[in-house]
Amino acid sequence: MVRAHNFNAGPSALPLDVLKKAQEELIDFKGTGMSVMELSHRSKEFEDVLADAKDRLKKLMEIPDTHEILFLQGGASLQFSMLPMNFLQEGKVGAYVVTGSWSKKALKEAKNFGETVVVASTEDDSFTHIPEVTVNTLPENTGYLHITTNNTIYGTQWQDFPDFGDVPVFADMSSDILSKKVDVSKFAVIYGGAQKNLGPSGVTIVILRKDLLNQQNSGLPTMLDYTTHIKANSLFNTPPTFGIYMLSLVLEWVEQNGGVEGIQKRNEEKAALLYDLMDEFPEFYTPHAQKDSRSLMNVTFTMPNEELTKDFLQKAKAEGFIGLNGHRSIGGCRASIYNAVPIETCQALAEFMKAYREAHLQSVK
Ligand SMILES: *Cc1c(COP(=O)(O)O)cnc(C)c1O
Repeated sequence: MVRAHNFNAGPSALPLDVLKKAQEELIDFKGTGMSVMELSHRSKEFEDVLADAKDRLKKLMEIPDTHEILFLQGGASLQFSMLPMNFLQEGKVGAYVVTGSWSKKALKEAKNFGETVVVASTEDDSFTHIPEVTVNTLPENTGYLHITTNNTIYGTQWQDFPDFGDVPVFADMSSDILSKKVDVSKFAVIYGGAQKNLGPSGVTIVILRKDLLNQQNSGLPTMLDYTTHIKANSLFNTPPTFGIYMLSLVLEWVEQNGGVEGIQKRNEEKAALLYDLMDEFPEFYTPHAQKDSRSLMNVTFTMPNEELTKDFLQKAKAEGFIGLNGHRSIGGCRASIYNAVPIETCQALAEFMKAYREAHLQSVK
């Protein structure tokens, strides 16, 4: 069996140990004589799976009791609408920091439900960095502040988070959730699709501070009302059962690999392998992100010309490096190196890039 060097941006690599365990349990889950997919979502066995996933996430991320964990559907994209629908109130504004395509999409949806304001944007700089935002930048009547902690397409990431006082901060962490230590208590809502760092697509994780529900808009469709899902412990209707099971296995794998601290250390090592190489040869591999905003998850770079980029991507693919093309909206190259991407995979890519440069240096000069 040959596993690909998988740099897909999402859905993306899963830990091999997790896939093996799922395979082992697939046909007969814990003596039930059926797979997890065939269990009732109301069964004791599935309730345990869900409780496991919740407990593990709570412990790993040190989620305080003030916050509830939900497993929903509709992806991070539905949260773009659900958040303003539930929490953007009349007389208040939803404040948005625009750091890439996903932030723009979140903003677009909020406009359907009330007043919004862009408090900072780096679009004029081609989204190469994270802007400075402080609580003083925010309008008096800010209802909430929305940020995208990691910009999957542009390869930039917030390095740390300012203190925004009493303003509820909503964070789209789709592409860096559980990749490094984060103080959850600083956020009113953290959300993300599972398919980058946490499991397969189909499950959306929402971590929500319960006191937000005291100021919720009324008249919402039942399924789009957070209260529905909190009251039902994410079991109001049929949840994505297999996805939640896989999430639980991925979280178990994180526990076994040093927890968030261990994962973070590895992620830093992995990213350094690629950024160090680019810093050595910046005229050949030019990072898109400014140094102080570089993402540990999505390493984006351009090459001297289109022709070379195309050739590089083709040769890389032939060598088993999958998913290195940049997002269709910006081109160039991107290596997504989420939690489950092994360090050996990053080493192999760094070596390939080094050799490729040596072989093609002449054609550039
Ligand atoms: C992938 C991604 C999304 C979209 O997620 P879906 O689950 O496909 O809706 C949103 N925001 C960010 C930052 C992403 O990386």
